[in-house]
Amino acid sequence: MKIQKICPDYSIKPWKPAKHMVPHLTIETNMTCNFRCKVCYNLNTSHVKSLETILQEIDIGIQKRKVDTITIMGGEPTLLPDLCKIIRYIKSKKVLCQMLTNGFLIYNDQTDNFLKDLVTSGLDRIILHFDKGQEAYEELASLVFNHLGEN
Ligand code: SF4
Repeated sequence: MKIQKICPDYSIKPWKPAKHMVPHLTIETNMTCNFRCKVCYNLNTSHVKSLETILQEIDIGIQKRKVDTITIMGGEPTLLPDLCKIIRYIKSKKVLCQMLTNGFLIYNDQTDNFLKDLVTSGLDRIILHFDKGQEAYEELASLVFNHLGEN
């Protein structure tokens, strides 16, 4: 139902922000995930964008807006084989690069090589999210909180 039908005097127009008003771009690279959180809106999709599409989206975002930060998110972006290439591409554009992740693969990598690769590629920030229903929610959460407590 259109909002005008509920409230005829109320008009909502598409917001067209100026270029400088949208400094943050999010890219949903893949809808695949290694968890099945109860609240996730991606549970029934498994689409994975091609590297070419992802790089094109980055280019379009930077071209159309004055982007200073790009967030890579999924699904779960650590499942992407080309993740480090994407990070390097973003950094080559002189843009801050962050990633939203459930953190499972990073924290379960005994060698820390995965994290080192991400950092070496230029990843500036990791944003961890925990949701009820994650298979290893308690184990992962305690890992993170123990780690934070060490610093
Ligand atoms: S970790 Fe994130 S993407 Fe994966 S199922 Fe949970 S909410 Fe969805």
